[in-house]
Amino acid sequence: MRCAKCKGTAQVEVRRHHTAFCGPHFLEWFEAQVDRAVRRERMFTPQDRVLVAVSGGKDSLVLWDVLLRLGYRASGLHLNLGIGAYSQESQEKCEAFARDRGAELLVVDIPAEYGVGVEGLAQLTGRVACSACGLSKRYLFNRVALDRGFSVVATAHNLDDEAAVLLGNLIAGNVDALVRQAPVLESTHPGLVKKVKPLYRIAERETAAYAVLRGIDYVLDECPNSVGARSLLLKEALNLLERDAPGTKQNLYWNFLEKIRPLLRETSPGPALRSCAHCGQPTTGEVCAFCRMTERVTHSLRVRTAAPGDLAPEPVGALGALPGGPSGEEGRAPRPSRRNSWGSLVNPSSDRR
Ligand code: SF4
Ligand code: ZN
Ligand code: ZN
Repeated sequence: MRCAKCKGTAQVEVRRHHTAFCGPHFLEWFEAQVDRAVRRERMFTPQDRVLVAVSGGKDSLVLWDVLLRLGYRASGLHLNLGIGAYSQESQEKCEAFARDRGAELLVVDIPAEYGVGVEGLAQLTGRVACSACGLSKRYLFNRVALDRGFSVVATAHNLDDEAAVLLGNLIAGNVDALVRQAPVLESTHPGLVKKVKPLYRIAERETAAYAVLRGIDYVLDECPNSVGARSLLLKEALNLLERDAPGTKQNLYWNFLEKIRPLLRETSPGPALRSCAHCGQPTTGEVCAFCRMTERVTHSLRVRTAAPGDLAPEPVGALGALPGGPSGEEGRAPRPSRRNSWGSLVNPSSDRR
């Protein structure tokens, strides 16, 4: 097979486009695809400060690498989820990536801020780990972006991710989620930062090829909580279809965006948002889901760590010491932060400029 550009030996086949490229021309094509997505969907401009959510996996580090190469002002935000060796290695990969490129990396250490990692947050609130993790990510990406003056948060969801989520939402008939599924989610509240997905035109195997060709060092292990995840089953099903009918995932997602989502938006205007009474973040209720979760955890940890007779008759949800302060008060667990205190969430020692 020959490269479509130079007729040299092709290294990467892009079957859904009936084409193939040598290494250098694949990298050129890949970066052009991302840049086209950014411009076509008006995600951000070279003047915007972009906060890239980086897990340490291949997709997010590839996204950060491409945006830096294209000249965008992209900083990374890593959340340490407190999932044992997996989280430690993930943070190390992000730090090494940032160090090698002289890029800015912000880190929020969830166990340090909230007393437990996402698995503990889940256990103490009767959720599954991925639910507590997803809620924490959505909240913290937005909060750090707001506090640090970023105009947009970029996540590395690729075509495979989006097609699998779409299939899951269609099966469940989840209209609200379908309306919210798009490469760009504009801000609809002063406390909500714009969210974008610049890799939505790129297949997962293409980000893998890009990472290999660029020599990007990423965490190879999957999160231990992803074993048996339904999203993997949906991806497998789509891979089967794609194998015999290249372009299935792209057609599914792009047709949804162009033909179906506009109709759904007309019938579903989205929920009215207000500010959380505790942290000021956008929510549909009085207190946001993240504050409710962390306050339950704070209460549980306080009950567990207090000596008999030492438990103050404080109501669930009362706020105490701010993160960054003396969170390890004797007999007290770390507590969630108040509004306007979120600068202390970010570990400044991890900033790199
Ligand atoms: Fe979080 Fe791991 Fe679940 Fe992904 S698989 S949502 S990283 S807990
Ligand atoms: Zn070539
Ligand atoms: Zn809140």
